[in-house]
Amino acid sequence: MSATPKPYSDREIWFLTGSQDLYGPETLAQVEAQARQIAETLNISGDIPAPIVFRPVLKDADSIRRTMLAANSDDKVIGVITWMHTFSPAKMWITGLDSLRKPLLHFHTQANVALPWDTIDFDFMNLNQAAHGDREYAYLATRLNLPRTTVAGHATNPEVTRRIGQWVRGAAGFDAVRDLKVVRFGDNMRNVAVTEGDKTEAELQLGVSVNTWAVNDLVAAMAAVPTAQIDELVAEYELLYDVAPELLPGGARHDSLRYAAQQEIALENFLTAHGAKAFTTNFEDLGALKQLPGLAVQRLMAKGYGFGAEGDWKTAILVRAAKVMGAGLKGGASLMEDYTYDLTPGHELILGAHMLEICPTLTAGKPRVEIHPLGIGGKDDPVRLVFTADAVPGVVVSLTDMRDRFRLTANVVDLVNPPADLPHLPVARAIWQPRPDFTTSAECWLTAGGAHHTALSTAAGIEAFAAFANMAQMELLVIDEDTRQQDFANQCKWNQAYYRLARGL
Ligand code: MN
Repeated sequence: MSATPKPYSDREIWFLTGSQDLYGPETLAQVEAQARQIAETLNISGDIPAPIVFRPVLKDADSIRRTMLAANSDDKVIGVITWMHTFSPAKMWITGLDSLRKPLLHFHTQANVALPWDTIDFDFMNLNQAAHGDREYAYLATRLNLPRTTVAGHATNPEVTRRIGQWVRGAAGFDAVRDLKVVRFGDNMRNVAVTEGDKTEAELQLGVSVNTWAVNDLVAAMAAVPTAQIDELVAEYELLYDVAPELLPGGARHDSLRYAAQQEIALENFLTAHGAKAFTTNFEDLGALKQLPGLAVQRLMAKGYGFGAEGDWKTAILVRAAKVMGAGLKGGASLMEDYTYDLTPGHELILGAHMLEICPTLTAGKPRVEIHPLGIGGKDDPVRLVFTADAVPGVVVSLTDMRDRFRLTANVVDLVNPPADLPHLPVARAIWQPRPDFTTSAECWLTAGGAHHTALSTAAGIEAFAAFANMAQMELLVIDEDTRQQDFANQCKWNQAYYRLARGL
């Protein structure tokens, strides 16, 4: 049991119980009492990050359809759980399920754990018949080709509540992108292929709205930042981080730190004014900015904003989704880029980093604030947070445009401590071992056409991303401890056919 508030306490998951009038009021009263009990058991488990809201038992097609329409139109509702306590003839569910536009979890359970073998009679059988009631319902859901997650087991089983919790995290991420606005400062880095994509299709599939502003609009927003606010933010930096002496007040380069603070305030004001929770920059298009935003971007990611570098709006979406799905968990999420390898046989490692923009939620340690030349872009030296991501399990996920669909590619990884201190590396970094091994991971990733930019999450894991993909009806290729190259290559090939067929004409 958990006393801390649920991370998505302002959202709801509706718990819908199916039955029918045939059973009579006495049995239906028991159905309702037991369904309430199950919803409450889920609520107090501590595993499920949104409130589960019990709704009146559904007994006919009209109330089912009206309930689904109500779920659709209520922004608080991020998903519905259905359970057929008794037999609920599934033709009653056709118009309702066909109307449903929110994520669906079919919870296949029953009120009791053990059967009362010594006392069981036909009244008991009459009340507790989800074993076939849920099969009738699932037949219909499958016939309608509804994307859904099915979880079977008793509500008191921790593995059951854990899995429902992961689905709720996926639903929260999906909800967050449904009305996400992404602000792009400038366009994509010139000539780069994988950061391009169909923004119109993305708005249809995910709901996300991606639009571009001139970077000099940000410069104008910087001019409006009051000096006192910069003073306050600089003081906060000194409190939270180990700031390099040259950047401290009185230091030779203190003005560069103040400039970074001014960027952070202006960026956040700009995003707030446009209702945006994600953004991109492009080092090739900095207008009148004096330095590429590094510290500012890192700090905004830590506040929950999605971000993609070089105009990469698709990764910005993923980072935002990862932030929401990981709410309340240890760890964090960041833009990441596969940078360079240690190819020592049997001990291969991937060093991930970026020019500057790695989110400090990847470490529980105290980052340093430093200033170094960038060597690209021809601007002033940018200020950045420098740290090494904590050695914990994680997942890297990329979103690529495959012409006729979007593809998510994910690799489950284990972050490790670096073999040495990296005293000369002037950027934040993460070092990981990919599962199942370097060769399989890299070759499968390349076969899948996965991007070099990813969202790295050490909070939300692969299950939440898989739920998200299912809700978005988006292809997901997973590379993990069970991956075999030949199977993976076949999956890529078959998916090619499946997604074209599934989409129709
Ligand atoms: Mn990059």
